[in-house]
Amino acid sequence: MSVAVLGSGLFGIAAVRSLRRSGLDVTWLSEDQAPGGLWRADSLASKVYPSLLMITPSGDSVFRDDRSRFGDRFLRWSEYAEYLSQAMPQDGEVRVFGARVRECVPVEDGWEVRADSFTGKFDWIVNATGRNNRPRALAVPPGGTAYRHVHASEYRTLSSIEGARCLVVGTGQSGVDIASDLALRGNEVDVSVRSGSLIVPKYILGKPVRAPRSGGLARRVTSPVKRRLLRLLVGRQEEWGLPEPAGESMPVVSDLFLHVLRHGLVTVRPAVGSLRENDVLFADGSTERYDVVVSATGYEWTLPHLPAGVQDSGLLLGMLPPGVDRLILLNGFRCKGAAMACAEIQADLVPRIVLGEIVPGTGAPLSPERARVGFTGADYRVYLAGLTSRGRGRTFPGSPGSRARRSSPSLPS
Ligand SMILES: Cc1cc2nc3c(=O)[nH]c(=O)nc-3n(C[C@H](O)[C@H](O)[C@H](O)COP(=O)(O)OP(=O)(O)OC[C@H]3O[C@@H](n4cnc5c(N)ncnc54)[C@H](O)[C@@H]3O)c2cc1C
Repeated sequence: MSVAVLGSGLFGIAAVRSLRRSGLDVTWLSEDQAPGGLWRADSLASKVYPSLLMITPSGDSVFRDDRSRFGDRFLRWSEYAEYLSQAMPQDGEVRVFGARVRECVPVEDGWEVRADSFTGKFDWIVNATGRNNRPRALAVPPGGTAYRHVHASEYRTLSSIEGARCLVVGTGQSGVDIASDLALRGNEVDVSVRSGSLIVPKYILGKPVRAPRSGGLARRVTSPVKRRLLRLLVGRQEEWGLPEPAGESMPVVSDLFLHVLRHGLVTVRPAVGSLRENDVLFADGSTERYDVVVSATGYEWTLPHLPAGVQDSGLLLGMLPPGVDRLILLNGFRCKGAAMACAEIQADLVPRIVLGEIVPGTGAPLSPERARVGFTGADYRVYLAGLTSRGRGRTFPGSPGSRARRSSPSLPS
């Protein structure tokens, strides 16, 4: 069985490690020159800037064999990039790096993968080209804006800016990190808040805050009791102008944002109504002028190299697009907390699916809403266990048998 793994970020690395352990014939393709994905400064998918801080502790962010290697602290992004680059020593797989995959075409019993300067035929494709690949930015007027407007993905181009009047739109993780960085570099910073998030410090009672492997602090802080405890420890964020956190929103982890808010270095503004040519109109009718506006408004997942119709809705096991054979999509839903937790679970499943030990059924696909809300690793295990326990042995419910192994890829009509 030959497998092409597309993408050399965390999920691609995890998949190649797992496939190699199973003795499968792997070709690893990436547009980048080395493994690490968005954590590398030289990646075409890079999202790093000098002051970027990891939000998950090392104990959750590295592969399970390495859990004790760094103690339990937050790594610098460059340390993490270095760790990932060495996490899959070349071990028999063919590497086709520096080659963007342009097109994957279903052929008899497999796929033809067409990349820059490479074309190959494979039985299976494991796609790990990342989720953060199309910025979801605010609309700008047709003539553009008199101020500089960038998406958070391009923030590194601003990371030396000083003395500017800045607006950061959004208070998700990227928004609070960027607002903190701008504020600490002497810029005048406003943040526009549409809905509240719970801002959680990195350490509580001397322990790193983490998403649960089995019911830990990050999940529990969303319960009313734990919220009260958090209020006792860090105070009421409403007092600093932030709205009450929305019910099930994932906590945003940042010491710096709490710090800059409390020092009055950041001013909270309402949701943005629209970006206009010379100023920004807020939802309450007020307007402000800025030198720089950063849209920290998230990303969309795009798969331009895969056949039209392949998308992230209705994934079986959270990995398999229904009706498309021999294609596995990794990181296809929002991973809450450490991405490594979901990456390792999916990587463990990859060779079992390829070898036919798990036959995906047509039942119980992941709903778009569930994919949007996402899973922690612990939630994902529970979701998968629910599927297996309702199925027979290793076959997931609704399975039509070994269709996926025998026929060539087909697309939904
Ligand atoms: C700013 C930021 C901070 C984050 N902080 C954390 C954190 O602290 N902890 C955590 O657990 N998670 C964090 N995450 C989540 C992060 O998404 C994961 O940690 C993980 O790195 C994602 O890995 P990936 O393999 O899915 O994607 P990526 O790292 O994006 O890798 C995708 C790879 O595929 C390549 N590629 C894309 N398209 C093609 C193509 N057509 N042909 C060939 N190659 C292609 C890209 O160049 C890249 O090498 C953060 C994300 C962002 C954006």
